[in-house]
Amino acid sequence: GAESKRLRERALSVIPGAVNSNIRLSAPPVFFGRASGATLWDVDGRDYIDYVLGQGPHFLGHACERVNAAVAEACAQGMLFGASQALEVEAAELVLQALGWAERLRLGLTGTECVQAALRLSRAVTGRRKFVRFDGHYHGWLDNVLISPDERARQASDGQVGEYLNDSFILDWNDADALAELLREHGDSICAVIMEPVMVNTGGIEPRPGYLRRVRELCDQYGVVLIFDEVITGFRVARGGAVERYGVVPDLAIYGKAIGGGWPVAAVAGRADLMDEFGSGRVNHSGTFNGSVMAAAAVVATQRLLAENSPYDRVADYGNALMKGLAAVAADHGVALNVHGLPAAFHVSLGPQMPVPDLRTLNELDLAGYAALTDRFVAQGLWVMRRGIWFVSAAHGDAELDRTLDRFGAALGGASS
Ligand code: PMP
Repeated sequence: GAESKRLRERALSVIPGAVNSNIRLSAPPVFFGRASGATLWDVDGRDYIDYVLGQGPHFLGHACERVNAAVAEACAQGMLFGASQALEVEAAELVLQALGWAERLRLGLTGTECVQAALRLSRAVTGRRKFVRFDGHYHGWLDNVLISPDERARQASDGQVGEYLNDSFILDWNDADALAELLREHGDSICAVIMEPVMVNTGGIEPRPGYLRRVRELCDQYGVVLIFDEVITGFRVARGGAVERYGVVPDLAIYGKAIGGGWPVAAVAGRADLMDEFGSGRVNHSGTFNGSVMAAAAVVATQRLLAENSPYDRVADYGNALMKGLAAVAADHGVALNVHGLPAAFHVSLGPQMPVPDLRTLNELDLAGYAALTDRFVAQGLWVMRRGIWFVSAAHGDAELDRTLDRFGAALGGASS
């Protein structure tokens, strides 16, 4: 709309890329004015059903009253930065209760930062330097993990991250034999294996049956710290994230996004014998804004809500119905749509319906063709990412499902409203 275009012009002359979070540079540009539940409104007054959810955080829906009220109430008591306060303790207690397996937790601000804390801790406790990560897995934007599966981005970042590339080995995920071979050769120089336990960032790919268990055994065999990056999967695919879903327990895990009902907060959690090193003074993890009352209050309110009123079955029902519905509507329009992944976070691209066990199979699908279509979805009032990930929230209901499928059909039919 006109107001979005005006804002875009203003933004481009003061903000490189026009938006600080870089979620999606849509053409035509869309600037948002407000959001509630599963709906966004742009500054021109048009509504969108939201499947981006800020890239995951708004699992409870936008402007969740109970969480926002808890944060406002805590702030009214003073911010208390840099001071111990009770809410921080309660937040840690509630998250650890929800997870079941972890004994200690530290709050941070972003997933990126907490990933770095976990890697640093792994180096400290093992005395080893290198870590293992997997092609297509995203762990934040800092130099030592910033390698994108996208060739252009890879080349760009290769030139910038320089020697950090030597910090890690990059393997194919879902291939336990490759990890076994690497550890046999280099195990005594490797401190940690870090992965998205479900590869959501590149394609919504589940671990093969038995894979996580085999990785767990290999890490035990070689004294390597196993880190699950549950920034997306935590409190989303189940309350206890991928650990609950697959029953394999890491040594450390990173949480973010959904943990605080949309407020900026993240955490690293894990076994006491490792995590207590943060308290020893030998391993630094800190920050002016870490463990703020807003973050803690958001986590406490979110965790209470999730405990009292578990949305996971509803979200799974919605996601499953949406996945089936999108494929059916596409088929009605003669479009072959591949929809796969978990109902709370699935992946859509053009191509035949088939199982997608790894990046190679994913790349047989038409990801670019799908990305090109997303402008039409946005034009019809569906806010979706170009890279095919759809996030579902607890605020999506029957009305949203019907409207989504109508709008999806209209976009594929080339009609405009
Ligand atoms: N890990 C994963 C799996 C993520 O998806 C993300 C963010 N998309 C991060 C880490 C980084 O988190 P943040 O953006 O909060 O720094």
